[in-house]
Amino acid sequence: MTDILHIVGGGMAGSEAAWQAAQAGIRVVIHEMRPKVETFAHRTGDFAEMVCSNSFRSDDDEQNAVGLLHWEMRAAGGLLMEMADRHKLPAGGALAVDRDGFSAGVTERLLAHPLIETSAEEIAELPGEGQWIIATGPLTSGALAEAIRAETGEEALAFFDAIAPIVYADTIDMSVAWEQSRYDKGDTLEEQRAYINCPMTRDQYEAFIDALLAAPKTEFREGEMAGYFDGCLPIEVMAERGRETLRHGPMKPRGLTNAHDPDVKPHAVVQLRRDNALGTLYNIVGFQTKMKYGGQTEVFRMIPGLSEASFARLGGIHRNTFLNSPTLLDGEMRLRSRPNIRFAGQITGVEGYVESGAMGLLAGRLAAAEMQGRRLAPVPPTTAVGALVTHITGGAEAKTFQPMNVNFGLFPPVGGFKGGRKGRVERYRAYTDRAKADWRDWLGQSRQSAA
Ligand SMILES: Cc1cc2nc3c(=O)[nH]c(=O)nc-3n(C[C@H](O)[C@H](O)[C@H](O)COP(=O)(O)OP(=O)(O)OC[C@H]3O[C@@H](n4cnc5c(N)ncnc54)[C@H](O)[C@@H]3O)c2cc1C
Repeated sequence: MTDILHIVGGGMAGSEAAWQAAQAGIRVVIHEMRPKVETFAHRTGDFAEMVCSNSFRSDDDEQNAVGLLHWEMRAAGGLLMEMADRHKLPAGGALAVDRDGFSAGVTERLLAHPLIETSAEEIAELPGEGQWIIATGPLTSGALAEAIRAETGEEALAFFDAIAPIVYADTIDMSVAWEQSRYDKGDTLEEQRAYINCPMTRDQYEAFIDALLAAPKTEFREGEMAGYFDGCLPIEVMAERGRETLRHGPMKPRGLTNAHDPDVKPHAVVQLRRDNALGTLYNIVGFQTKMKYGGQTEVFRMIPGLSEASFARLGGIHRNTFLNSPTLLDGEMRLRSRPNIRFAGQITGVEGYVESGAMGLLAGRLAAAEMQGRRLAPVPPTTAVGALVTHITGGAEAKTFQPMNVNFGLFPPVGGFKGGRKGRVERYRAYTDRAKADWRDWLGQSRQSAA
């Protein structure tokens, strides 16, 4: 049993994990429930089906973190990137693909691999022995989700995300905003200054509510709403319930004194909370939203202190099964309570086809190394793969953990470059140069360990 790696789910992560492990010489069985058991989003029985957009986003590996992730996956012999390049469509700087050709290509290559078998079945229990990777994605089947929940506890597996927009800390205007926790709560100065506050006058608040109500929204897809609960309402829905609702909810000004203008009580306050240990990212507290992306930037830049803000990710609410990975997984993506099981893909709390595939790539390599008695060095957090895995397995705040796209805010800062939006071209280039060198080194060390 232990010489076979079992992978549950043949989506983005499971397909890449299977490929990487098999290329390392490990026998793999992929257990995929489709087409026998369907999800509301998938249409076919193929592996690596793209359930919505046909884009892998930016392909710019010098100025964009997802483009860098493409580069790293290509350098590691990734199957998803090989097939994406083969089935590429014209899309400017983005990597858009012919979705049917792409997933048919991935399926064909996996089925043709001499070390890969497939098993068309739903896995409904957590496996007791053997080496496993669970990569069942945002739409993990109900039975398996229940089994995971029984193992990890009620609070540690979510069925919906509620993503508040995340801002790069160095783009917040601190001549307008100030640091303070409500009622200065906390034992240490750091605790008492844990939040960044953005004050609003009555006119600014009214204009903000108007913009929020007018902005275009995305709808839930059919079947997506099942099990959704009232506990994490989008801000625009709160605003629809009454113009004052937000002022008594996430935008209440109570317990806060504007450090720049202590005598004037703000009419409303938007709070931002630290989102990662590096302190480079802040989320806007309680601002989960179904506003369309284009509208979000415009509306959120109306907030005093955020007029020049850059967003590491915008807000959203989706049907999404994901673990509280910072508490549950070790640095090698193993479930702490059952180290024979790794998790990979969107269920670990990354978001997107590329990020999910990248976590599959890493999990496949880690599992193969462990099964061959090799030890891989930790992936440097200065690389895109390393920044993501470091974030989900420890860098993120566990209490407020929500799915994350790859972005430069997850990387340890590079010294000697101007912060903010103005210096970003040189800064991003420094991030990507450093990442490429470190990823090449890591791949070289991994090859040596296999020799
Ligand atoms: C409605 C919707 C729209 C989305 N749109 C986009 C988008 O436009 N762009 C983007 O980048 N990302 C999008 N995503 C996120 C997207 O799902 C992920 O980025 C990506 O597909 C995740 O890869 P994965 O391998 O983790 O999961 P998946 O690709 O979903 O693969 C998981 C696989 O596991 C199988 N499975 C589930 N449970 C079991 C079980 N118990 N036993 C056996 N097999 C099982 C499923 O059938 C599936 O094939 C969307 C997600 C949803 C739900």
